[in-house]
Amino acid sequence: MRVLVLQPGYLGDTVFLGPAVRALKARWPEGRVGLCVTPRGAPAARLLPGCDEVLVFDKRGADRGPAGLWRAGRRLRAFGAELALVPHVSARTGLLAWLSGAPRRIGYAPLCTERVRLDRGRPFVDRALVLAERAGAPGEPALALDAPAAHAAYAEGVLAGARRPVVGLVPGAEWATKRWAAERFAALAAELVRDGATPVLLGGPSERALASRIQALSGGALRDTTGNAIDEAVAVLARCDLVVGGDTGLVHCARALQRPALVLFGPTAPERHRFTHRERALTVGIACQPCHDHGPPTCPLGHHGCLAQLEVAQVAGAARALLQLP
Ligand code: SF4
Repeated sequence: MRVLVLQPGYLGDTVFLGPAVRALKARWPEGRVGLCVTPRGAPAARLLPGCDEVLVFDKRGADRGPAGLWRAGRRLRAFGAELALVPHVSARTGLLAWLSGAPRRIGYAPLCTERVRLDRGRPFVDRALVLAERAGAPGEPALALDAPAAHAAYAEGVLAGARRPVVGLVPGAEWATKRWAAERFAALAAELVRDGATPVLLGGPSERALASRIQALSGGALRDTTGNAIDEAVAVLARCDLVVGGDTGLVHCARALQRPALVLFGPTAPERHRFTHRERALTVGIACQPCHDHGPPTCPLGHHGCLAQLEVAQVAGAARALLQLP
């Protein structure tokens, strides 16, 4: 069986495919599981256990517009899928699945041969897992990601001489309303340094300025890896004793690597995730939370209290508890 899973979303969305991918591979071990994801999701997709092939759909770049969609469809057709799972909801993804030539398409998007109603109240990992189960491949919802062996030397270099515990800090997020303030990350980092820990900043190229600001505010004692490739960041995350950040892709990568994680929730819902005993979701619990599935570009109430009211002392206390520090 050749199965294609189409999820051209964010990095976190790719990580959440993991349980379904493992279920499909367990059901058809001699088959081939291909993942169609965005360029940002591709490095993580290659690290998902059970993934045989990654097909990139650059919907905002090279594959933009009707001609790009047609070209991407031709690439997918070459995969020869007998079954497609479509956990993404957009009509464009439904059309791409149709262009792939897969005769059976199970999913939430239009043009699926078996269109399923999306239950938005369920955890994100369940979205693809439900579709896999419908295809005859039930599985368990635990996240998993392999550490990239090719970048082990890079990560060892970043952490050379670091005092334990090493704490990864992920201050960025796609949406501004999911970011805790730079000043607070800096204050948290300074507290961690006083506790004897080594904070390491992680993030994408667009977050370099944010990381520099945190570095300057905290007194310059942090290791800054911001702007590196995603698989390099994943190699560093795999060596962290704790990762602290918002509801964002690199933090979910850390969770899938089985790293202890402290997730700071603002406009989004902790209930959309299945946390383990190594993880803690922190939220101030004001009445307007949650207000959005993925995080609005700006706070509709103008005060951003969901993260503005989250104090450094609370986060530092939760971090110490997860690190089992006094
Ligand atoms: S409405 Fe509430 S939950 Fe949404 S961004 Fe504003 S403060 Fe946060």
